[in-house]
Amino acid sequence: MSLALDENIALVLHKVDDLRLEPFPVTEPKDGEVLLEMQSVGICGSDVHYWKRGAIGDFIVRAPMVLGHESSGKIIKVGPNVKNLKEGDRVTIEPGVPCRRCDFCKTGRYNLCPDVVFLATPPVHGSIARYHTHAADFCFKLPDHVTYEEGAFCEPLSVGVHACRRAGVTIGSKVLITGAGPIGLVSMLAAKAMGADTIIMTDISQARLDFAKTVGATYTLLADNDAQKTAQKVTETLGCMPNISIECSGAESSIQTTFYGTVSGGVVVLVGLGRPLASLPIVNAAVREIDIRGVFRYANCYPAALSLIASGRIDVKPLITHRYDINESVKAFEMAESGQAIKVMIKCGKEVQN
Ligand code: NAD
Ligand code: ZN
Repeated sequence: MSLALDENIALVLHKVDDLRLEPFPVTEPKDGEVLLEMQSVGICGSDVHYWKRGAIGDFIVRAPMVLGHESSGKIIKVGPNVKNLKEGDRVTIEPGVPCRRCDFCKTGRYNLCPDVVFLATPPVHGSIARYHTHAADFCFKLPDHVTYEEGAFCEPLSVGVHACRRAGVTIGSKVLITGAGPIGLVSMLAAKAMGADTIIMTDISQARLDFAKTVGATYTLLADNDAQKTAQKVTETLGCMPNISIECSGAESSIQTTFYGTVSGGVVVLVGLGRPLASLPIVNAAVREIDIRGVFRYANCYPAALSLIASGRIDVKPLITHRYDINESVKAFEMAESGQAIKVMIKCGKEVQN
């Protein structure tokens, strides 16, 4: 064991454009923690953003940081007082561990905990490594038939589940999703699984829209620069206005489309994070009683995401377009940055991943 740990390597971001696979220390599992042999880790847009820009908003990479937070692994050691898991268990890892004591934590909205420790959000190290230590209560056991890659996919899928819960998606919902990147796609999959019968997705990339169609979007629409025109086309395509819009691009014109395009009394959820300030048709939304809701990651969504995958109600496998060994991590990041991929997976461990 200690021999294996000595061999730990991790993908460390030193500064903008400087990503290195190098030896990295592993910590022994303390009270309530488990030591994992990492298996699959997906690359998220935020990982690429830190690599290329060095910051997201107020989160600035000031010291070397391991990237990656969409992950699964196999437990190789349990720390004291771990009751829910044992050595050998295959798990998906929820990356944000909150304080468990503040009002947000106590009322179940632990994603809003100001003291949350979230993987690969500076200064916290991420999980693209051979070994990683994590809070046991934020690891969820994978059924035997769920692959490690599917386990890693519970992370972005949880964002989709949370967005749909915040939006109140239910049987018969008609949903507009703006942005057909990985987050738009998982929101679409979650919305369908939660009962939405019609989902229209917009993007400025026809290739992304074509892909969205193959994985289940009812309709797709190339977004116009003019948000009102796009909203009008959405209504024409659906034959009515959507009662829910899930904004997944962060683009100002796209947020405008959700405001104009949602039926009076409907709900807009803002998942996409773009520029800090935007010019939006706020009076239009106000007088039509559009409820505008924020989305920050997720809380209590991992069990639901895992259940959707395990039961076959959601198939995330077609979204995994590229795979690399941890030794080829930099190449994997180059592919993720190219925009050609939907989800790039890194294989960190020796087990079968898919
Ligand atoms: P992505 O960049 O892969 O996808 C965004 C998509 O939006 C792209 O396909 C792009 O072509 C499209 N787009 C750009 N401008 C558009 C426009 N005007 N109209 C329609 N589509 C347009 O990113 P992703 O990984 O899918 O993430 C989507 C967004 O969600 C990002 O802003 C990301 O930061 C955010 N995000 C938020 C949370 C949260 O907790 N709120 C969590 C994860 C990701
Ligand atoms: Zn808290």
